[in-house]
Amino acid sequence: MRAGARHRQPPSVLAGSVPGNLVYMIHQASITVSTSGHRDMHDITDAVARVVAASGIRTGLAHVFNIGSTAAVGTIEFEPGLQEDLPELLDKLIPPSRHYGHEQAWQDGNGHSHLQASWLGPDLTVPVREGRLALGTWQQIFHLECDVKPRRREIVVTVMGE
Ligand code: ZN
Repeated sequence: MRAGARHRQPPSVLAGSVPGNLVYMIHQASITVSTSGHRDMHDITDAVARVVAASGIRTGLAHVFNIGSTAAVGTIEFEPGLQEDLPELLDKLIPPSRHYGHEQAWQDGNGHSHLQASWLGPDLTVPVREGRLALGTWQQIFHLECDVKPRRREIVVTVMGE
């Protein structure tokens, strides 16, 4: 423990009320996406927005997390051009190859999938403002499948705030 850390409030205080009339809430739900395999991209904005609406939280943060190491979450203008461009760019940067250490260890054909997913990252945090996701008009939340076969994905959405 670092010096001074013992004087901080314990984390459990976030689950209830704290002095000063602030009431923190946490709401969690899962979204399921069935993907067709490598490069399949889904717009999950509406599904995340429904979780935020159900939370009743007006001001806070929504955290979106893909469970699994071969898919990614982020924001993009969700339109057909970029839906092609992003996976295309990833395949140029991190192409399928038998030379990855993962392939030499496992020979399961998805070394590039793991690397692409880690490169983009499995999660995203979006501010919640006036009860809604604070996203731009041309900014949607995407889920990108990087694995080489169809997968059923669970995406956990955690909304925190007041
Ligand atoms: Zn693998």
